[in-house]
Amino acid sequence: MPVLTEKQIWRKPRSPSNRPYRLTDDQAALMKVALRVVHLRLENWSRVAEALGYTLKYLRKVNGRQGRVAGAMPVRLAQSLGVPVEDLLAGACPMCGSRCQPRTM
Ligand SMILES: [Zn+2]
Repeated sequence: MPVLTEKQIWRKPRSPSNRPYRLTDDQAALMKVALRVVHLRLENWSRVAEALGYTLKYLRKVNGRQGRVAGAMPVRLAQSLGVPVEDLLAGACPMCGSRCQPRTM
């Protein structure tokens, strides 16, 4: 068995398969669109925060430049919009659940 003479650090390669719950950039963008649609429907961010179970501060962070959509947000958004979460993540329209429009708003 070889003996180490120098300090070695092994790291797991950061591949997507190591982060199975992470959204793709496309999916994250879709979720931000969905969030804006919820905002349009509920008219203000306080109601959005209440409906989704987040604080205003957190929603502001997600909406910001570096904001990440994580955790249960896709599920909560889908529930709030009445669209299956799989459809929403696959690019369905957050307004009607179909493929009626492009992904951006
Ligand atoms: Zn639509």
